[in-house]
Amino acid sequence: MGLTPMMQQYLEVKESCKDCILFFRLGDFYEMFFEDAETASKELELVLTGRDCGLEKRAPMCGIPFHAANAYISRLVNKGYKIAICEQLEDPSAAKGIVKRGIIKVITPGTYMDSSFLEDNKNNYIMCLYINNEKSSFAISFADVSTGDFSCTDAPLDISVVLDEISKYAPKEILVQEELEEQICSGIKERFNTSFTKLSEEFFCSDTIGTLKNQFAYINEEEYSGDLIKCCGSLLKYIIETQKTGLSHINSFQYYSIVDYLSIDSNSRRNLELTENLREKNKKGSLLWIMDRTNTSMGARQLRRWIEQPLVDKISIQGRLDAVEELLNNLPIHEDLKEALKEIYDIERLVGKISSKSVNAKELISLKSSIEKIPAIKEIISSFTSNLFINMHKNLDELQDIYKILYEAILENPSISVKEGNLIKEGFNEEIDELRIAKVHGKEWIASLENNEREETGIKSLKVGYNKVFGYYIEITKSNLSSVPEGRYIRKQTLANAERYITPELKEMEDKILGAEEKLINLEYEIFVQIREKIETEVDRMQQTARIISELDCLSSLAIIALENNYCKPEINNAEEIYVQEGRHPVVEKMIPSGSFVSNDININTTNEQLLLITGPNMAGKSTYMRQAALIVIMAQIGSFVPAKKAVISVCDKIFTRIGASDDLAAGKSTFMVEMWEVSNILKNATNKSLILLDEVGRGTSTYDGLSIAWSVIEYICKNKKLKCKTLFATHYHELTKLEGILEGIKNYSVSVKEMGSDIVFLRKIIRGGADQSYGIEVAKLAGLPIDVINRAKEILARIEKEKSSDVNIEEITDKVNSNVLSKKNSEVIRSEQSSEIIREVALDKRESHQMNFIDIEKENLLKEISSIDILNMTPMDGFNKLYDIIKRTKKL
Ligand code: ADP
Repeated sequence: MGLTPMMQQYLEVKESCKDCILFFRLGDFYEMFFEDAETASKELELVLTGRDCGLEKRAPMCGIPFHAANAYISRLVNKGYKIAICEQLEDPSAAKGIVKRGIIKVITPGTYMDSSFLEDNKNNYIMCLYINNEKSSFAISFADVSTGDFSCTDAPLDISVVLDEISKYAPKEILVQEELEEQICSGIKERFNTSFTKLSEEFFCSDTIGTLKNQFAYINEEEYSGDLIKCCGSLLKYIIETQKTGLSHINSFQYYSIVDYLSIDSNSRRNLELTENLREKNKKGSLLWIMDRTNTSMGARQLRRWIEQPLVDKISIQGRLDAVEELLNNLPIHEDLKEALKEIYDIERLVGKISSKSVNAKELISLKSSIEKIPAIKEIISSFTSNLFINMHKNLDELQDIYKILYEAILENPSISVKEGNLIKEGFNEEIDELRIAKVHGKEWIASLENNEREETGIKSLKVGYNKVFGYYIEITKSNLSSVPEGRYIRKQTLANAERYITPELKEMEDKILGAEEKLINLEYEIFVQIREKIETEVDRMQQTARIISELDCLSSLAIIALENNYCKPEINNAEEIYVQEGRHPVVEKMIPSGSFVSNDININTTNEQLLLITGPNMAGKSTYMRQAALIVIMAQIGSFVPAKKAVISVCDKIFTRIGASDDLAAGKSTFMVEMWEVSNILKNATNKSLILLDEVGRGTSTYDGLSIAWSVIEYICKNKKLKCKTLFATHYHELTKLEGILEGIKNYSVSVKEMGSDIVFLRKIIRGGADQSYGIEVAKLAGLPIDVINRAKEILARIEKEKSSDVNIEEITDKVNSNVLSKKNSEVIRSEQSSEIIREVALDKRESHQMNFIDIEKENLLKEISSIDILNMTPMDGFNKLYDIIKRTKKL
């Protein structure tokens, strides 16, 4: 037995797309076979059947109707699968032998373009990563096939920088070298929910510059590294090979340098909840949720990019701030702008569809009505005087020539399908008009035929009808058949209670009508394609207009939030200080009852207030305060007004945070290891222009180790001239507050609380000076711990506090450190181990006495337990077990 010819064809096609699920077109269905069928039936909950394939066993098979394919494709793509679409390439009725079939498109998570299934306010990126281990460098490129964005960068190899870039773009698919180290691959996979495609070295070594030059005519290969060209060319090649269609909208090659934007590492992006909240990973509760008041999808995507990539160039930041201010100073004009923006569709994605030839006439009407609003928008911004608006006004192409074509050619309410006619407006094409007249005339003739024949035959119920098989016919019920004049009609079909007839004239007219209809459909499609192609030549102009509209929408959104939330315009400088008066956390203030957020000042610089040491109980508001500082800086560098009464912000180059849980915890690493890894990364990469937030550094290990590490980290930051970065450091180690005055630049702050009897009230106000108590037990009580546990904890605390000598004497340690520093004349920085060792020395002496406390407590527990044993009411076995337990515990003491 051999394979059937159809199955042979299937397997040949499948050979070329082994990593895809193959949708194989058979008539009105896409069928899947073998493993593909098993996967698809599971993922899509389809019935798995079988088909004879010429082998002993039937081939597993499942299928979907072709007209419903899009929804199934989107479900599979969202699950990370790739789908190859194999179509019939010839009309089956005209085919000799087996119908020719071929793959017309491969749909992958990163190249998916169906806008009805893509999120409107998010780009759908595909990324290519190329690592050169010999040169120790990397290149990355990104593209959004639905909008035409294409950008790239390269830098010395640093995996954390690679991860930061990935987290900025959140690509749906990543192309990597086949031989890329598994460690790097799994590192990326663990952090990002993305699908991987491995490409061979041959793929990267093909004529990548040729591919790029074909797409971006102006590209000059000498300006870029060979690896960058490989990386970009391979990404483009992959897109071309999968899409197999026009990509004229990918026309702008944008190289950026990593230092062009504020660097925020991937953990900090998560922890600061820039675009999604930590828990549910959705927009609500994120900075984007507060800031996004855009009116167009293009604006929403642009704003997301602005948040992902705050600026570092003071002039550009100032440009956005001035524009926002101008909108706020001209509220009625801003209102007009908002209204006009509301009527603009997603020009970027419509242009993408034009270039990939998938646009329909309805979408062209959306494009037309969007373009219709552009002159009004241009007029609205014409009165503005800030530089950004002046430039936008100058560069905003009104696209009126395109409007004119669309207005004259496309019907206001055309069919969705481009192959059913009803697309082109009257007066645009003479032949179309004539065919329409012929069609209408024929239909009128048929309509009048019914009346004529009724009169001629006297049969009142005579009807003229139409069906696809027999065309037009005259229908007469059985009861009237005797009235039909002999020889008048030709019998065509007999029904249960009627006869259907035709006449030669009727058939002649039918040919005319159907001929006109078919010609009309073909001609309308032809003209539609001509119009689409004509407009396609103007893709870059439309993209430029789309970009300006999206930026206008972002500025408008920034003005709305500034007005509604009472933000202030920050003053931007390079003076290495951050001063915020009455600052608020933009998100927390929206999550709690209106007006209940307590504002706080922030004053931090690289000289006398370099490291703010913040103490205070849990739940007091320390991390909110620290995050607020970072978010205010980020907002300012986006070009937004900020939640404060006054703000002076010097531009930061990087923001680091060591707060809360990290990505790596999910990857199974210990909390302490991850914490130390992150701190080490910060200390290696921060500069004196950076802002760092450190929350509870050292808490993951024993008290003394933790305290030593926290202390030496503080010293390292304050004493290392290269570092000297602005730092907010929240800690539970109250001992560290004694460092103020000893180390230059450290200032103690605490979050105030009020004691009310045995309870505490959080005042949320940051005040100068360290906290003297941690109120841990009071906070535990607020959290609802059983009262017995609370009372016992108080007892234990009282006993421990009695042993004052067990405290680490910070002055004693500091004296030791200082004398060591003085003896090392030329040393600038105290090595971290040094302070750690000294603190350990002092602490170890004390540990003994600390341990004594715990032994005493356990002894006391044991005695209490023994004296409460009710021996008379115990069975001998219970008594024996109790005695055994007591002996065991006593041996441990
Ligand atoms: P900590 O880091 O000290 O444990 P958090 O910063 O997590 O405390 O704050 C705990 C809660 O207190 C927050 O979820 C928030 O609801 C509230 N909070 C914090 N700061 C403020 C403030 N300034 N005004 C009002 N509520 C606040």
